[in-house]
Amino acid sequence: MVVIGAGQAGLSAAYHLRRTGFRNGSGFVVLDHGKRPGGAWQYRWPSLRLGKVHGIHDLPGMAFGTPDLSRPASDVVSEYFGRYERVFDLPVLRPVDVLAVRDEGERLLVESAADSWSARAVINATGTWDRPFWPHYPGQETFRGRQLHTADFQSVEEFRGKHVIVVGGGASGVQLLLEIAEVASGTTWVTRREPEWFDRDFTPDRGRESVAKVDVRVRAGLPPGSVVSVTGLALTPDVRRGIERGILDRKPMFEHITEHGVVWADGTTQRADVILWATGFRAALEHLAPLHLRGQGGGIRMDGTRVVSEPRLHLVGYGPSASTIGANRAGRSAVTEIRRLLDS
Ligand SMILES: Cc1cc2nc3c(=O)[nH]c(=O)nc-3n(C[C@H](O)[C@H](O)[C@H](O)COP(=O)(O)OP(=O)(O)OC[C@H]3O[C@@H](n4cnc5c(N)ncnc54)[C@H](O)[C@@H]3O)c2cc1C
Repeated sequence: MVVIGAGQAGLSAAYHLRRTGFRNGSGFVVLDHGKRPGGAWQYRWPSLRLGKVHGIHDLPGMAFGTPDLSRPASDVVSEYFGRYERVFDLPVLRPVDVLAVRDEGERLLVESAADSWSARAVINATGTWDRPFWPHYPGQETFRGRQLHTADFQSVEEFRGKHVIVVGGGASGVQLLLEIAEVASGTTWVTRREPEWFDRDFTPDRGRESVAKVDVRVRAGLPPGSVVSVTGLALTPDVRRGIERGILDRKPMFEHITEHGVVWADGTTQRADVILWATGFRAALEHLAPLHLRGQGGGIRMDGTRVVSEPRLHLVGYGPSASTIGANRAGRSAVTEIRRLLDS
């Protein structure tokens, strides 16, 4: 039994495998290509303080506690995940980069450059961090300034005195824009769609509604779509202030990029030193390509966490379970189904 990925989803799955009687070593193993515990959280920019994230859900069996909200989320989550791996003695091997999963008849073969593991079932929990999505716009390669993706963002200090165009209508785009506006000479915010703000609390009901929408898509074999396309953007006090100050004044997508800036369809231009692509991530599933899982809808048809065309493979933290709370639940349901499959 192999789990690929030791983020929230992979650790939750590992915990339940342990509880249902899988043993370390010959029973199951968790492979992760990160340098340290923490999943994608270890890479989040240092100014992303714990108090600014939507919330980290407890991993099963161990409370996250009430850490200092002013500390970087990357450090706190990394420490928590590390503690979790030790306390439950989870067999995490790192760094192991899984390059391919192949169908070997009775078994699935999980391959890295140096090793391979023969598995009766695989739980894939590889998240999205490794696949930043960069859309292409004409002239992009001619831009003389700097272009970067959210995944490369480190510190607002890099943008002091510069004009920054932030592309993207997700939570990261909004958060970074508000921080950058404090030091930049100017900012421009462009998004494909008009942002959809919501001012009610993000209640469990609202969460469930969002998850249900993504679930319908993946059951139909469609790509899951972005989280914000179903949740909308929260009108937090910071966001309200950003709207009042004109920072969150959204412009539609530009048509093309020049050496020194961007141009809209009506001929309007904006000079820029930096273009920050806050355009999200896609599921990191390249290593599953040998299994040919994608159907005509362009996505992987799912039933819960189970891949319909390959019942020995479960995707956790994918589609409807791509949130810290969803990843947790998905780990448990994947293990319950796999146990049933192996027992039969
Ligand atoms: C900027 C940003 C902010 C977010 N903020 C929130 C938030 O506030 N609240 C929230 O609920 N969600 C948030 N999310 C979503 C968040 O990513 C998920 O909630 C959750 O943390 C994902 O957990 P995961 O285990 O599925 O993936 P990850 O945490 O990405 O873990 C995947 C693991 O798999 C490993 N891996 C990947 N590919 C391979 C491979 N081929 N071989 C071996 N190992 C591999 C990686 O090293 C990583 O350790 C945010 C996402 C982003 C990008």
